[in-house]
Amino acid sequence: MADQPQKPGRSPVHQHMAELRARALTCTDCNLSQTRTQVVFGTGNPETPMVLIGEGPGEQEDATGIPFVGRAGKLLDEVLRVNGISRNHVWITNVLKCRAFVVEGGRATNRPPRVEEVSACRQWIEAEIALINPLVIVCVGGPAAKLIIGSAFQSMTRQRGQWFTDTEYAPYVMPILHPAYVLRQHGPAFEEARQLLIDDLRRARDKVRELRRHPPPPRPPKVVQQSLF
Ligand code: SF4
Repeated sequence: MADQPQKPGRSPVHQHMAELRARALTCTDCNLSQTRTQVVFGTGNPETPMVLIGEGPGEQEDATGIPFVGRAGKLLDEVLRVNGISRNHVWITNVLKCRAFVVEGGRATNRPPRVEEVSACRQWIEAEIALINPLVIVCVGGPAAKLIIGSAFQSMTRQRGQWFTDTEYAPYVMPILHPAYVLRQHGPAFEEARQLLIDDLRRARDKVRELRRHPPPPRPPKVVQQSLF
């Protein structure tokens, strides 16, 4: 990974990302804008070769405006750190930028996003990816993998840690376990799942290093790259 963490706001990419973030923060393109505390935009280094994408913000992300905080976020930070990666080395974001939840028995519980919500929000994740143009995308959990990889992704159990090379978003895309899933395991199962996370992220890191030595051929730009900026 990049050895020197980037300082925000010092390059055109940082500036474009800041502008994109500012636009996203006021988005009202789906009903989730009425119930969110705030939009949770991506964070990290927009000049990174590696992007991590989860499904959407939960309670603590909604409260802080930062993706992957709370217990699952701490575990993600830990397994990244084991591989020598900090949040300043990567871009961490979600498919959906506002929390999707239902209130049951007086408690707000996260729910899967609806098709129309994902469809409305797709503009932001696509714009982030188009701006960063990463070499490697890591899909954190099945829902993100389904959106980024498409129908070729069928099962986290069978396809976790595999490379997908024919998506429209990056030369190499890998689905990994969601840290929240890992945290639901106990004893040896927890240790095994945590090690899988570490191993998969190490392979993602090593793929970035390999691609920097031997860059893949240029890819045709997506339409979104031409229309967003
Ligand atoms: S979820 Fe996405 S599309 Fe919906 S309001 Fe939030 S930012 Fe806009």
